[in-house]
Amino acid sequence: MRILIRNGTVVTSEGKQAADVLVDGERIVAVIARPGPDAGLTDQAAAALVAFGAEETIDATGKWVIPGAIDAHTHMELPFGGTYAKDTFESGSRAAAFGGTTTIVDFAVQPKERSLQEGLDTWMKKAEGNAVVDYGFHMIMSDVNPESLKEMDRIVDQGVPSFKLFTAYPGVFLSDDGRILRAMQQSGKNGGLILMHAENGPAIDVIAEDNFLAGKTDPYYHGVSRYAVFEAEATNRVIRLSEAAGVPVYIVHLSSRDALDQVRAARDRGSKTFAETCPQYLFLSLDDMGNGFEGAKFVCSPPLRPKEHQEDLWNGLIKDDLQVVATDHCPFDFHGQKDLGIGDFRKVPNGLPAVEDRVDLVHDGGVVGGRITPERWIEIVSTAPAKIFGLYPRKGTIAVGSDADIVVYDPNRDRTISAKTHHMDVDYSCYEGRVVKGASDVVMSRGTVIVKDGEFVGPRGHGRFLRRDRADWVRKN
Ligand SMILES: [Zn+2]
Repeated sequence: MRILIRNGTVVTSEGKQAADVLVDGERIVAVIARPGPDAGLTDQAAAALVAFGAEETIDATGKWVIPGAIDAHTHMELPFGGTYAKDTFESGSRAAAFGGTTTIVDFAVQPKERSLQEGLDTWMKKAEGNAVVDYGFHMIMSDVNPESLKEMDRIVDQGVPSFKLFTAYPGVFLSDDGRILRAMQQSGKNGGLILMHAENGPAIDVIAEDNFLAGKTDPYYHGVSRYAVFEAEATNRVIRLSEAAGVPVYIVHLSSRDALDQVRAARDRGSKTFAETCPQYLFLSLDDMGNGFEGAKFVCSPPLRPKEHQEDLWNGLIKDDLQVVATDHCPFDFHGQKDLGIGDFRKVPNGLPAVEDRVDLVHDGGVVGGRITPERWIEIVSTAPAKIFGLYPRKGTIAVGSDADIVVYDPNRDRTISAKTHHMDVDYSCYEGRVVKGASDVVMSRGTVIVKDGEFVGPRGHGRFLRRDRADWVRKN
């Protein structure tokens, strides 16, 4: 299919330009600049367009034409705390598409005492034929041992060059410092990247137990027990381990100014340290966790912080100490799943729904809020994750030869976020009633229009597995 997207303003991380975009098959084949926003094409460009012979034309007058966004942190169908994250690869990726996200990178989990390959194969099966946008995987290492260390190399070769380890969740996901260092050393040999969930889990469990035994059982105490200093300590620790191993490290879901201080200090001394934050830490706070058991809707780890952390995180994004906003999308119904934790906040499944709302939230709070430029917004939600995770320039930009993952974005349309209208398979929204400015009009994945006029119009199982490149970009930047 040959598609012409005309009269829009192309926005990438590099700049803004009045331009028409030509798509042939799955790729972008031309970006034709116009002299100005209201100007027509030159005669030469007009002749080229006629020769192209578009079969479909999308009018983007007054709209932005942006690269499809990349959510580098999702958990579809994740088993957690005796239940499963509710979105499947089908429902979750469809919701992502509605929100302008055309690539997700999910987490395959190594089952304890089993191989990495077994975990990867399991997640491949969940996604294949179900996801409607392209997807890649990171590998969660639950069990670092001589066999799984060797196996890392073969996982990298399969296009899964990133491994997540945890300093939290003792007995489930936690790896001790020696195991983390071993995995880091191995990533130095195989060109992979280590991702860290950095919170001091054993220390958190002490405070959580103290609070529970003192009769403080509401979800609010989940937030209170997971001190920011425990996140800062673990963040510094894993950064120091990465420095010792001489490899880059990527901190997932950074939530607090305390942890950000550690990342900034590391980058200032020249470490290859990268970090993401999530919409919940920019827009929600510990205050949302009050109101009795309602607070369970906001239970995630790391937890929501006091409001005054938010502006520091925005500053981290402005100054590039934080490079990415990803969601950590991991939805559980309030009724039937979150309520496993009635009477004990430690049993509330951890995770929030967000995959559909990230792009608009960051546009609204960032660009409309006057904190960042449209170019920086694109960088945070699309280009930087493409570069860090080995997908650039196939994804993350509008350029000749790139996949035609394109969103026609209306920066002026108001949208009210609500569980009544969202497409995520979960019975509540953390942002219920919030009005954001900016919304996706048309969403294209590899040259196929998948969302238009508020409807999903793409084929079933359109998404493909993305073999990602080794983490060379983070080693050079
Ligand atoms: Zn996560």
